[in-house]
Amino acid sequence: MITLAKLESKICVDTFNKRVNVTANVTVGELAEELRKYNLTLENFASINDQSVGGFIQAGCHGTGALVPPVNDQVEGLVLVTPGLGPIRILPGTHTFKDTQNEVDIKIIADDELFSLVKCGLGGLGIVYEVTLRCVPLENLEEVTKVFRLEELKKIHTRLLLENRHVRYMWYPFTDSVVVVTSNPTSKTAAPVALSHSHSLKPLREIMTHRTGGPSERPGDPTSLAAFRDALISLDPLNVDFIRQVNKAEVQCWKNLEGTRIGTSPEILSFDCGGQQCVYEVAFKVEQNCAHNESPDIEFVMRLLKRIETLNIPAPAPIEQRWSQSSSSMMSPAYSTSISDIFTWIGIIMYLPVGSDLHTLNARWNIKEVFHKVYTKVLLEAGPVDPLQLRAHWAKLDLPAPEGNELSELRAKLRKQYPLKLYNTYRRLLDPNSILTNQWMDLLIAQND
Ligand SMILES: Cc1cc2nc3c(=O)[nH]c(=O)nc-3n(C[C@H](O)[C@H](O)[C@H](O)COP(=O)(O)OP(=O)(O)OC[C@H]3O[C@@H](n4cnc5c(N)ncnc54)[C@H](O)[C@@H]3O)c2cc1C
Repeated sequence: MITLAKLESKICVDTFNKRVNVTANVTVGELAEELRKYNLTLENFASINDQSVGGFIQAGCHGTGALVPPVNDQVEGLVLVTPGLGPIRILPGTHTFKDTQNEVDIKIIADDELFSLVKCGLGGLGIVYEVTLRCVPLENLEEVTKVFRLEELKKIHTRLLLENRHVRYMWYPFTDSVVVVTSNPTSKTAAPVALSHSHSLKPLREIMTHRTGGPSERPGDPTSLAAFRDALISLDPLNVDFIRQVNKAEVQCWKNLEGTRIGTSPEILSFDCGGQQCVYEVAFKVEQNCAHNESPDIEFVMRLLKRIETLNIPAPAPIEQRWSQSSSSMMSPAYSTSISDIFTWIGIIMYLPVGSDLHTLNARWNIKEVFHKVYTKVLLEAGPVDPLQLRAHWAKLDLPAPEGNELSELRAKLRKQYPLKLYNTYRRLLDPNSILTNQWMDLLIAQND
């Protein structure tokens, strides 16, 4: 494992060209704070801002917004430290470049193919030392949270997607409700307000009181919806009836939380995802069938929800659905040569109780079994999308267990989904002795042919 923890952090903002040179160890949150001083920000954010800039781009991360690309597409250039060629600055096309900092002797490679691969390079092509990212002016966003019934949502889905800068849905298994969060630029100013307040959580608190027999409100109670959900689910994580009850109560909480808040994009776009968890997320291209007025992105989730009910999967909420513009990175799950393509990202989750006693360890093991052996398979087979079109988020793709055919099937699938031959050719050039590899890379990505 390589850590950049001791690398000196540098952030160099170019206000004229609206871009920033940042070392890969800086966190997205730290970068946003620095950019704020220059009235700039990043085009998009994921749900957390604690990632390093290196991890953010190399794993092909995304926020939400049908017209906003994944974050790797905000990269305008990067410096890679490679065992094969030493430090290299990689740029698209045939840019000329003047190294204003004159710190190190860096070779410059302007090559569209390598640039496309390396922007979402999975850490296998070299260590990202510095990234040049495109920025946008800092502005306030107005976020609106509203609970819809599925039938209502279906009628306005396309409009919601195209008329809002950022849209995300939180689906609630075993209910017909979906929480819709939209955000758009606004000239209004107001301090962001916390989304959770005591009254809003009453429906969850009632279940807690009923289950534990304690007083309705206790001093140490979690104060956010996500933390309350974690505490509640850990009482009986695989009991379908209990999860159904919690999901329904959570929808009630969201009804209490409906409303508007205003803040800058890093404040508004990040959200609380809860504690320890198993996650899996797929992306696929949304091919709108105008003739039949069908939305395959919505249909996919509806089928998934139906399968969850039929198979009685203890699926907690939310199932996150987000969108992005296509990415020009060949290794991105949202890769397309057409900039107008829209991809949807659908993520499932199961929360893990925390503790080292035997009971908790057992529960964690059982949850992982259900998640990996049942729930992710149900997601992949939800249809109507061909499973080959479903590309997993790299940061959420765990190695399957070595027994059985899963590993070989996944390897074969990845070979059909990505240009791994080309990727591995560059790996051999940039890392000829495979010193940057690991088990995940060896088993899923590497090939010797
Ligand atoms: C609670 C939570 C919420 C999340 N929400 C989202 C979300 O909304 N959208 C989304 O897309 N993702 C999301 N993620 C996934 C997260 O953004 C990625 O896992 C991201 O890669 C984590 O960054 P990190 O700095 O922790 O990376 P690490 O875990 O340190 O690295 C991830 C990988 O990136 C590569 N890498 C990292 N740094 C470098 C470098 N300097 N040079 C070369 N390669 C490097 C390596 O291959 C490494 O294995 C979430 C994760 C969590 C835990």
